[in-house]
Amino acid sequence: MEHQVELLAVGTELLLGNTLNTDARDLSRLLSGMGLNVYHHTVVGDNPGRLAQAVEIARSRADVIITTGGLGPTCDDLTKKVVAQAFGLPLEYHPECEESIRAYFAKSGREMTENNLQQAYLPQGCTVLENHWGTAPGCAFCVDGVHVVMLPGPPRECIPMFREQAVPYLSQLTQGVIHSRTLRIFGLGESGVEQLLRDKMNALTNPTLAPYAKEGEVELRITAKADTVEQAQAMIAPVEQEVRAMLGDQIYGADVSSLEEVVVPLLARKGLTLGTAESCTGGLIAKRITDVPGSSAVLRGGVVSYTNAVKSNVLGVSQELLDSQGAVCGEVARQMALGAREVLGCDLAVSTTGVAGPDSDDWGNPVGLVYVALATPQGCQVVELHLGGAAQRRDRVRTLAANHALDLVRRYCEK
Ligand code: ATP
Ligand code: MG
Repeated sequence: MEHQVELLAVGTELLLGNTLNTDARDLSRLLSGMGLNVYHHTVVGDNPGRLAQAVEIARSRADVIITTGGLGPTCDDLTKKVVAQAFGLPLEYHPECEESIRAYFAKSGREMTENNLQQAYLPQGCTVLENHWGTAPGCAFCVDGVHVVMLPGPPRECIPMFREQAVPYLSQLTQGVIHSRTLRIFGLGESGVEQLLRDKMNALTNPTLAPYAKEGEVELRITAKADTVEQAQAMIAPVEQEVRAMLGDQIYGADVSSLEEVVVPLLARKGLTLGTAESCTGGLIAKRITDVPGSSAVLRGGVVSYTNAVKSNVLGVSQELLDSQGAVCGEVARQMALGAREVLGCDLAVSTTGVAGPDSDDWGNPVGLVYVALATPQGCQVVELHLGGAAQRRDRVRTLAANHALDLVRRYCEK
């Protein structure tokens, strides 16, 4: 039987835009990974009437309802009360919950107030979902073929609790798994990928092949439905091989989340050190490299050479060149990279100089004109980028410039 899942998030802060509904995103991923189809995301405020209404709608179109939020003492146990009532279940006292709540407070050294004990009341006959990450227990029950799972709102409680407590409960509903592998592509747009792979995509139903555009990159997800993860992986492998044969080194990694996550181990494997000289990216490249554990073995350091004075005094960029051509030109990028390689004493140095916007620079260079250079023991390579166009955002120009710089390093290391 195909189950239909609805996620029902309770919280006025979500409606006001103060909090992003990351629980819905993360739970959706986990649920689809289990082979459960999520058909609706609903958000409702901390209001009993509207919550009751949302529950009625959800149960009319879904047979698995997962609520998040409103379980704590602050919301007066709104979610539990309203949902239990909608399904005709009284709340009953669970002494073992009171014990865990008391234990949690003792362990975290905080004072427990009486209203915390309200949390020990749960719908009659439910399965208690223990909360080892906070105080409010969750619960699961089934009435008239509709399964209900209630989880607390804070992501660091909701998600681990789902994995540990709700998955075993829900797995009785599923047969088989959905497993995917994600190839990350740089240097080819979504439409380019789609064009190359359209026939393949249309021909495949299991596994499926789907591209997703992501901040200047493309993710290509191969997803298989099978009885076990191993079977799904075996179905995915030949498709991955075919895709790799078509896209070659445009694919920079599989099941990784960023270029830097690939670049750092690659540099380490090659025994190469890196340095940065950043103007328009303002340290973003160095920041992203240092986000990766193990980066201390490969990153020597970086210079945020935002002003011409620093470009010339620290990196040795020709003052004459800066005066005559401005900071945004290929030759400046080249001299920045060469200078950084020298001062920082690294094997490779990347540099960026460009116009992040929102306005063009004093020299009339357009927003999005960026030069990226890579200095290596073999010489220096300069790339001119046009990242502007339709009202490009400043942060996006910087992200894209950093992506290109990291990709230059990757390609050099992979050669
Ligand atoms: P608590 O015991 O902490 O009060 P709760 O289950 O009552 O837990 P809420 O009071 O609804 O949860 O939310 C607590 C906090 O958790 C919110 O302020 C918000 O920061 C976060 N949160 C709630 N719902 C979500 C959600 N769907 N996605 C991401 N964060 C959320
Ligand atoms: Mg609360």
